[in-house]
Formats: sequence, C-alpha cells, structure tokens
Amino acid sequence: MHLNNIRIVLVNTSHPGNIGASARAMKNMGLSKLYLVAPKDYPSGVAIGRASSALDILDNAVLCESLKEAIADCSLVIGTSARSRRIPWPVIEPGICAKKLVEEGQQQNVALVFGREDRGLSNEELQLCHFHVQIAANPEYSSLNLAAAVMVLGHEIYQFKQQLELVKQDAEKSWDNELATVAEVETYLEHLEELLIQIDFHDPENPRHLMPRLRRLYNRVRLDKMETNILHGIVSETRKMLNKK
Ligand code: SAH
Repeated sequence: MHLNNIRIVLVNTSHPGNIGASARAMKNMGLSKLYLVAPKDYPSGVAIGRASSALDILDNAVLCESLKEAIADCSLVIGTSARSRRIPWPVIEPGICAKKLVEEGQQQNVALVFGREDRGLSNEELQLCHFHVQIAANPEYSSLNLAAAVMVLGHEIYQFKQQLELVKQDAEKSWDNELATVAEVETYLEHLEELLIQIDFHDPENPRHLMPRLRRLYNRVRLDKMETNILHGIVSETRKMLNKK
C-alpha cells in the first residue's frame, strides 16, 4: 500500500507561506508529490520557513503553467470546493475522496486539486475534475485556510491507508486451518437443528429466534473447517446414541 501516485495540486497560490505549510502537512500525512500551478510568489524563503522539515517536498515540487498540464497524466482528478457551485457536479465526502485516491492511486496517477486563497477554483477548473470534495464545516464560515484543507484531506488519506493495512494484516494472519464455507456451516446448522428438535430444546412452531441467534454466534466466530467437522461430529454421534435408545 503506497501513496506515491497521489499528487497534491495547488492552483495559483498567492501566499508562499501556504505552499510551505501545505508541503509540511503533506509530509506529515505521507504524501510526497506536490504540483504548483502558476504560484504568484515562488520560490520563496517564506515557503521554505513554513515547510520546516518538508523541504524535500518543495525541492521536488513540479511547476506547471496550467491545471490541465498538471493533471494531464492522471486518471482521476478530485477538486476541492468550500461551497456549492451553480453547476451540479458529483460531490463526495472526504472519506470517499480518500478511498478513491488511495485505491486508484495504487495503479495510476491521481490528483487532489486546491484553489486560490481568495477565489478557490474557477468553474472551468472545477469542470476538469471527476469529483468535487467538500470538507463539512460551520455553514457560517466554511472556508478553511488552504494548508488546513490540505491537512484535513491528507489526514483522511493517511487514515484510510492505515485502515486498509490493518485489514490486510488481519486477513493475512496465519491460521492453521482454512475457514469453513457457507455450505459447510449450513449443513452443520441443519443437523444441529434436527438434534435440538429431537431433544425438545427447539420447537419449530415456536422458534424464538433460536436458529438465527445460533447462526449469528457461529458467524461471529468464523468457524474453520476443522472446528465445523468437530461440531458436526458431536451432533452426529449424539443423534446416533439417541436413535439407539
Ligand atoms: N473563497 C474561496 C475559498 C478558498 S479557500 C471559495 O469560496 O472557494 C482556499 C482553498 O482551500 C479552496 O480552493 C479549497 O481548495 C480549500 N478549501 C477551503 N475550505 C474548504 C472546504 N470546506 N472544503 C474543501 N476545500 C476547502
């Protein structure tokens, strides 16, 4: 799992301090590809000062003349917007934005685009994007500082990657037996039900959710094949003994 194909594009930034602070936020969140579209005041000592230990991100930043140029080799482009625009466009939540960027970014270049401090992205620039993402904020003042917006969306990306890695590690945990299939558990449950009826523990006329509860219990445990066979064996032998009587 990597974030190397996710690029952060800052369009026409006025304040070099915001470029430096965005680079820092990116490095904090494991992002490394910065594209600067026609920055107003760059290179700049102020940007360097605000970047702190993220100078490598500034050093490797790619300067472009237009947004089109910055995203030409991307398969997915998500634009940020602090407010709803007149032209309806698919708007997604920061969590979904992170999912799309991380997943597609495993194979292809993807971009997250930020606008100018005073005017955001133009309608034309927003229309170059596949989706728009909006950070939910106080409706009376929902416009975040540019670098703060990079931080919030960067953090979503970082968190999504972390969660995916945890899920993957969990799935890869070695287990000595293969997990049981649905059919194997179903057959066991059918035989268990027959036994429970036979010993008058379960009345199909008045089931009281017994079988769904047992099914939920077994699904929670995630039985493996060996465990299913053992349980199945116990039920079969018990029924054999009962039938002998
Ligand atoms: N006045 C501008 C806001 C610019 S804020 C406007 O109304 O569009 C500078 C940039 O920070 C925005 O272009 C966007 O990239 C980002 N940003 C700020 N607040 C945001 C929010 N609530 N959701 C998504 N992006 C936001």
